[in-house]
Amino acid sequence: MGGIKYQGEIKMIESKAPTASIMYQLQSLGDALKQFFGYTTFRPGQQQIVEEALQNRDLLIIMPTGGGKSLCFQLPALLKPGLTVVVSPLIALMQDQVDALVDNGIGATFLNSTLSWDAVRSREMAILNGKIKLLYVAPERLLAERFAPFLEQVRSQVGISAFAVDEAHCVSAWGHDFRPEYRQIKQLRQRYPDIPILALTATATKRVQQDIVQQLTLRQPSIHIASFNRPNLYYEIQPKQRQSYNQLFKKVQSHKGSGIIYCLSRRSVDEVAFRLQKDGISALPYHAGMSDIDRSSNQNRFIRDDVQVIVATIAFGMGINKLDVRFVIHYDLPRNLEGYYQESGRAGRDGEPAYCTIFYRPGDVPRLDYLIDQKPDPREQRVARQQLQQIRDYAEGTDCRRTILLRYFGERFKGNCDNCDNCCHPKPVEDWTIEAQKFLSCVARCRERFGMTHIIDVLRGSRKKKVEQNGHHLLSTYGIGRDKSIDAWKMLARSLLHQGLMDETTDGYRVLKLNKRSWEVLRKQRSVHIAITQTPVAKALSDVSPRTAEIELLFERLRKLRKQIADIQSVPPYVIFADSSLKL
Ligand code: ADP
Ligand code: MG
Repeated sequence: MGGIKYQGEIKMIESKAPTASIMYQLQSLGDALKQFFGYTTFRPGQQQIVEEALQNRDLLIIMPTGGGKSLCFQLPALLKPGLTVVVSPLIALMQDQVDALVDNGIGATFLNSTLSWDAVRSREMAILNGKIKLLYVAPERLLAERFAPFLEQVRSQVGISAFAVDEAHCVSAWGHDFRPEYRQIKQLRQRYPDIPILALTATATKRVQQDIVQQLTLRQPSIHIASFNRPNLYYEIQPKQRQSYNQLFKKVQSHKGSGIIYCLSRRSVDEVAFRLQKDGISALPYHAGMSDIDRSSNQNRFIRDDVQVIVATIAFGMGINKLDVRFVIHYDLPRNLEGYYQESGRAGRDGEPAYCTIFYRPGDVPRLDYLIDQKPDPREQRVARQQLQQIRDYAEGTDCRRTILLRYFGERFKGNCDNCDNCCHPKPVEDWTIEAQKFLSCVARCRERFGMTHIIDVLRGSRKKKVEQNGHHLLSTYGIGRDKSIDAWKMLARSLLHQGLMDETTDGYRVLKLNKRSWEVLRKQRSVHIAITQTPVAKALSDVSPRTAEIELLFERLRKLRKQIADIQSVPPYVIFADSSLKL
């Protein structure tokens, strides 16, 4: 390993940590890396970060999960005099990291609420004796009043080399895991203005970055952003069927190796884990409703490969150090893309191929909407709703999933990734502008007071009472959509909603509304393309025999012909304008 040659030797000064009992005489950072951690090369970005940390700069480090953030503060901690204090949000996380360090013979420890008074005391003594280079602590303890004198004592006796704030996105309400305690961390800056702060996170949105810099009062931080692309992960959406459990079971069966299944509710976690067990898959549940003991025992059994699958709510997995997770399945739609990236990112941290699947059905969305409604703060609701829309767009999207995901993090990924369902099995996209005009004009004709089912009834000329009672059988749009099945119209309507070409009220009645973009479609200023998903019937047919596949092809040709005919018509007679002042 090349590395920068330092003018003098890098030594561990003053420390009596076990690792320092042999005095290291290191010529380069590469040597240090090998000596302390046994690694031969730095991961991308690590070396420069370590160099800057050694210059006592404030740093904001953004790297995907598994990118190797810990080393960015651990190695400098070992090379600088004094103690590095690591702020970490979860006990399990601290335990893992400290265990790993101690295994490497490095003086590290944590202080948290699980420890007896005696244990705390003896750890504090070890720190004051300079035996410890890294102290992990939760923010609430670090900032507790009774901790302040001890911290001061540490500073004067052994020195504090840095504050490392791990999972720093917890400071931001715009992140996926806001923790109010994190907001207090900035007091450290006021108390110890000379001590550098390193903030680390896997969250890359601009918004969260700004928040971290502001909330932690970082001083002209050097910001390092690593690529978020995880080339070994295969991203896919599975349309969730009615018998979704059977579908899930088959999927799990098709995989080898460890996997995580995320569910939305504790109840479904228990249910799915139970049914998988019954069907012969070794699976355990994990959620916040279980006792700490059960939870950590299940987690450990998963990490030890004692059990193949963990079924969990999103409470599971932050900082889990299991590299060989082969699949992550979201049985319910994740709440947002940010969370999805983190959760799916727990797969394939060893760099080997792994699979990330979302089971998706649009019918699951109202449940998530309902959860958002329960949030007390209207601003939070707005953020959450917007984020939900983004994950829906991802699930409904016909573009390369990797491109959509990375664009969300502000990273441009060009073209085909060849490792997602949309790239490997592209869905045919068709121009449905004419159909969209029919649908939207029917919504307008019905005075934007009805839902999807009713609009489709009118379009297809239904004899239902509700249609006649409202006089909708007299509308010019009545019966103009008999040529398409209910499913086809639904597919279009959903797509219009998902593409933001039409709105739907979310007060429980789900009334369709036109928006600015709907009018652009009606005025022929905007065309509508939708990905055609095969209807179950067509799929069943094509599965039966190659001859029916031929029939499908004929239908396909017929559809194209119909479209050509429609295109020839200049202004479709059924496009009507509710607002007569609108010009074509
Ligand atoms: P993060 O905190 O970014 O999610 P970690 O710091 O936990 O990631 O590191 C993930 C894994 O990568 C760990 O098992 C760690 O030991 C390993 N790792 C980190 N840096 C290197 C390196 N330079 N060479 C080899 N493995 C590394
Ligand atoms: Mg980490």
